[in-house]
Amino acid sequence: MANGDMRYGRCGVCGGGEVYRGEYVAQAGLRQSGTGKLGAKQPVFDAYVCAACGNTQLHVQLDAKMSSHIRHKLDWIPPQQSTG
Ligand SMILES: [Zn+2]
Repeated sequence: MANGDMRYGRCGVCGGGEVYRGEYVAQAGLRQSGTGKLGAKQPVFDAYVCAACGNTQLHVQLDAKMSSHIRHKLDWIPPQQSTG
């Protein structure tokens, strides 16, 4: 089970099988929310778009520097128990 991960070719919202892959290059960069700090990075994302409903999923193309940037500059969300 892919758990809605569109990299496996199925849309997690409508369940359709029309998922297309492209690249999304962030012009404005990726930074911590709510801050005006500089130091944003401009990541390249693999973009997965559902042609049936428009749902889009982005995956950062990680390398060591990008992983480090994310871990040090962004807000970590601790995993939570889902109550579903
Ligand atoms: Zn869809």
